[in-house]
Amino acid sequence: MTIDIAIDKDVCIGAGQCALTAPSVFTQDDDGFSEVLPGRADGDGDPLVREAARACPVGAITVTESGGHLSRT
Ligand code: SF4
Repeated sequence: MTIDIAIDKDVCIGAGQCALTAPSVFTQDDDGFSEVLPGRADGDGDPLVREAARACPVGAITVTESGGHLSRT
């Protein structure tokens, strides 16, 4: 399954939960806001991506599956 990860940086408050939950996919930029690591926009098959999206306190992470389903926090 292919997924696509989007981070709404206008919503992100830099809580860092995503980077803590799925460190192989998410990191934090110099300002503390969430970033997807280079080449990991497809989630790299990491099941923790969904967990990270759930962990985000402000729902800034959207995980979209190839089937078009939208999985929100
Ligand atoms: S958990 Fe949410 S608010 Fe915190 S850094 Fe990640 S995207 Fe931003």
